[in-house]
Amino acid sequence: MDLLEFQGKQFFAQFGIPVSDGRAVTSVDEALAAAEAVGYPVVVKAQVHAGGRGKAGGVKLANNADEVREHAGNILGLDISGHITRTLWIEIASDIAEEYYASFTLDRSAKKHLGMLSKEGGVEIETVAVENPDAIAKIWIDPVDGLTEEVCRAWVLAAKLNPDVTDGAVALLLKLYTAYVEGDADLAEINPLIVKTDGNVHALDAKVTLDDNAEFRHEWDDYAATQVRDVREEAAHEKGLQYVGLDGSVGIIANGAGLAMSTLDVVNQAGGEAANFLDIGGGANADVMAGALQVINDDPKVKSIFINIFGGITRGEEVAKGIIEALSRVDIAAPIVIRLDGTNAEEGRALLEPHLSDKLQSKPTMLEAAAAAVALAKKN
Ligand code: GDP
Ligand code: MN
Repeated sequence: MDLLEFQGKQFFAQFGIPVSDGRAVTSVDEALAAAEAVGYPVVVKAQVHAGGRGKAGGVKLANNADEVREHAGNILGLDISGHITRTLWIEIASDIAEEYYASFTLDRSAKKHLGMLSKEGGVEIETVAVENPDAIAKIWIDPVDGLTEEVCRAWVLAAKLNPDVTDGAVALLLKLYTAYVEGDADLAEINPLIVKTDGNVHALDAKVTLDDNAEFRHEWDDYAATQVRDVREEAAHEKGLQYVGLDGSVGIIANGAGLAMSTLDVVNQAGGEAANFLDIGGGANADVMAGALQVINDDPKVKSIFINIFGGITRGEEVAKGIIEALSRVDIAAPIVIRLDGTNAEEGRALLEPHLSDKLQSKPTMLEAAAAAVALAKKN
């Protein structure tokens, strides 16, 4: 799960990483009280699950109560990349001498942790990576070895930070690595990592993604409460379906996670994009099928539906009966293409035969079915 900036800072603070004192608030009055409590000048910061808040007008310096009132009023309700601001973080303003970038994330192909450090911070790191890739010092860390002080120091020197802050940067980065590993994060990013005019190194922003699989080891209820979830995923999970929302136009239903993933691939191969991943499991009975169709039907992006079923223990005619009954219960807007194969596939297809129409096609192979579903999605 992704943390809001202030949650990321609370997470960092648990590991001794220096952050600014601040308060999370949800109204202008609370913002004023928070500013009085932390002391002027303060920075008023939108708390949304999106970057680039500064550019969008979601980060403002306030020197007095009038300015807090003005900025808090403007930022509450502000739309930042489709995220409406409901919470503000009011923190003591910092005097900045330099803005750096630091992060740890997982490099799955290298099977190692990847650390990135740059003196070109504050701006988007993707831009630095394209325009000035040499300005990013990278290290790959074997999780068994961990990050030693020696390696960390060499990394800091390679990044050519201000030599005066080497010790401070090494100390902070070692803590950030500990937070990333012991805190079970998949990403711990500080942009900007600042050097203050007093020479101290400090996290001015926080972007943290926690590994949901590690939730049982932690107290993450407060973090979980502020997650924005995909409405399609909420509805599917309530029905007990294994569903992941995607951005394409071909709705997908398959039995088995492996087959569902292959289905995404063939849809891609046929030139289309899947609207979702949906595994209905081995059974494929009418109740489950109706639930799956309902979830997909409610997704306005879906222009065609591809039902990809391989009969194993569940026989083809049982699957076909399930599909027919489900279709009688749910009024489906998009045309459907079915590929039914495996045990008793012929008996199943024979049952489907009288129900076939322009809106319900049957194809013998996965590729043909994918091609038909993609063609329909493009036509609609
Ligand atoms: P982002 O735009 O969502 O990445 O938000 P950040 O928290 O990174 O803030 C954006 C920029 O605002 C930073 O790069 C700083 O230049 C500036 N900023 C944020 N907090 C302060 C502060 O306390 N003092 C000063 N002088 N500038 C700040
Ligand atoms: Mn930032």
